Amino acid sequence: LLELRDVCKTFRALGREPVVALNNVNLTAEAGAITGLVGESGSGKTTIIRSIMGLERPTSGSVGYDGINIPTAKGSDLRRIRREIQFVFQDPTSSLNPRMTVEALVGEGLVVHKLVPDKARRRERVVELLQMVGLNERDIYRHPRSFSGGQRQRIAIARALAVQPKLLICDEPVSALDVSVQAQVLNLLQDMQEELGFTVLFIAHDLAVVKQICSRVAVIQAGHIVEEGPSAEVLASPTHPYTKALLAAVP
Ligand code: ATP
Repeated sequence: LLELRDVCKTFRALGREPVVALNNVNLTAEAGAITGLVGESGSGKTTIIRSIMGLERPTSGSVGYDGINIPTAKGSDLRRIRREIQFVFQDPTSSLNPRMTVEALVGEGLVVHKLVPDKARRRERVVELLQMVGLNERDIYRHPRSFSGGQRQRIAIARALAVQPKLLICDEPVSALDVSVQAQVLNLLQDMQEELGFTVLFIAHDLAVVKQICSRVAVIQAGHIVEEGPSAEVLASPTHPYTKALLAAVP
């Protein structure tokens, strides 16, 4: 569903050495599965996400979604991409507007993409979504700040799923949470994926998290994918020294 082919990205600024952020990245998020992308800080994960969001134009290569090259997409293709690809970020505090109620936040995509114009119908749909992620009907009137970190991430997931995405990009969605809450949010993501069948690209620096929910995993080091395969295999018998080192760090 998502296919990065030979993606290179070099940042050039006047008077500075160029920075090669991505060097021939080949990455596929298989339809209907959870694919993990693991790498340390500075390995290029954010640059990949920004390329998928259309915020960064690769120096070369293609970022394909369902046959469309994202960096050059326009008009109805772009509108489709904006609806079908949704994101859940590491820090729900910065991705959820604190001035909006949960009803407005979760229902926003339904308005933007003109999916449920009727306000009463939209409220019903928001309540359904909240219940799906383990929150309550009365939560629609609250603001994100009044929730715990884990609950905020549930709101972010409900908001992303509202528009029935085909691809969900999760950028370190549990790294900012307590360990006990991490497992709950991971379970929720996994349950939703199984029930609804969307595709997930799950970005993490932590292999333990990947082990829990990803069927495939790609390991990125210094802008290059050094190992890729079914996560059970990669984690049981890694071939690249970098993967071995990452694994050694897992408690
Ligand atoms: P983190 O987990 O810390 O966010 P990351 O794996 O997401 O790290 P990127 O943010 O993609 O890594 O960065 C990859 C490399 O590209 C780094 O060396 C970074 O300094 C560099 N880089 C990213 N954005 C820019 C930019 N706008 N200008 C110059 N260099 C950049």
